[in-house]
Amino acid sequence: MPAFRGACRNDSLEMDRLIEGYRRFRMTQWPERRASFEALAQQGQSPRAMVIACSDSRVDPAMIFATGPGELFVIRNVANLVPAYGPDAEPHATSAALEFAIQVLQVPDVIVMGHAMCGGISALLQGSPHPVGDFLGPWMRIAEPAKRKALAYNEADRQTACEHEAVKVSLRNLLTFPWIEERVNNARLRLHGAMFDIRSGVLSVLQADDRFTPV
Ligand SMILES: [Zn+2]
Repeated sequence: MPAFRGACRNDSLEMDRLIEGYRRFRMTQWPERRASFEALAQQGQSPRAMVIACSDSRVDPAMIFATGPGELFVIRNVANLVPAYGPDAEPHATSAALEFAIQVLQVPDVIVMGHAMCGGISALLQGSPHPVGDFLGPWMRIAEPAKRKALAYNEADRQTACEHEAVKVSLRNLLTFPWIEERVNNARLRLHGAMFDIRSGVLSVLQADDRFTPV
């Protein structure tokens, strides 16, 4: 076990800036939000929906859906991927969050939200521009079926096609979880696909015809 002592250093300029931001939040936003946080603390959370989004710093579900604390239960991971149901002794961050949101909090809707210019998808299609280590490659293999479909498109459309297909892979994988499939079949849970274009700020939603349409 590496020594933890001394690993936390508070001489970072960036951390100083973030703490300044926190102080502004405490001064300006906290007084307005205090009552709602107190209610959430007392009553517990009952989020309206779950969103699975990319960790990309440009894709913030709370901002895109104009929601506040307590409204969205969010998973953010590289390329907004959901693995297939595969319980074993290893830790599974995304599956654990799904289990909690669906079985315990009983969210009624799950939205898988992809985005344009996704670095994870780009690395899957073209290889990573950076040498990567132990984790990104195996993680992105979840989206291999999306890559195979996207390779049928011409090069100009391939990235977008793969981003769209990866959302569909995640939606299909959600249905491999028995307690998700059961709730979907009983109309207690609805699954949705969406795409956010960070260039235009436009959100598109996956429709019954299998296409993403701007809303
Ligand atoms: Zn991304």
